[in-house]
Amino acid sequence: MSETAPPEDPSSAPPASHTGQCACGGVQYTVTGDLRSVSNCHCEPCRRTTGHHMAATAAHSGAIDFEAKDTLQWWSRTPTVDYGFCNNCGSSLFWRANDKPDHISITAGSLNQPTGLHTYEALFVVEAADYHELDPSVHQHTHDRS
Ligand SMILES: [Zn+2]
Ligand SMILES: [Zn+2]
Repeated sequence: MSETAPPEDPSSAPPASHTGQCACGGVQYTVTGDLRSVSNCHCEPCRRTTGHHMAATAAHSGAIDFEAKDTLQWWSRTPTVDYGFCNNCGSSLFWRANDKPDHISITAGSLNQPTGLHTYEALFVVEAADYHELDPSVHQHTHDRS
């Protein structure tokens, strides 16, 4: 299992992997390689499952390894879309779609800090909650889900 660590490259910028977990630690994961910047999704299902809005990074589904996942549960919102959460503490963790099997969305808040990420877009802003003050510096997509 042990690997020889590659020589340190002082010029290399982002970390080669990110770790994260749910609030209780029942789900713990490591993502190898770069993560996508953070996309905020304001659609109604994301608002309800997260309690506010989905702030998600993403990775190739093969890039994620689980150190613990006994409490990871998937809720199929539709036949093609699943939300992953911890069935002990309730943390929102993942999102995936059948038509993108190589892709997994990861809630940015479940990552261990620092993430080094920034937020680049807001989706379905027409469905954002009325109390939500959207960040004008983040590009807003006004399309709806229909
Ligand atoms: Zn948990
Ligand atoms: Zn959404």
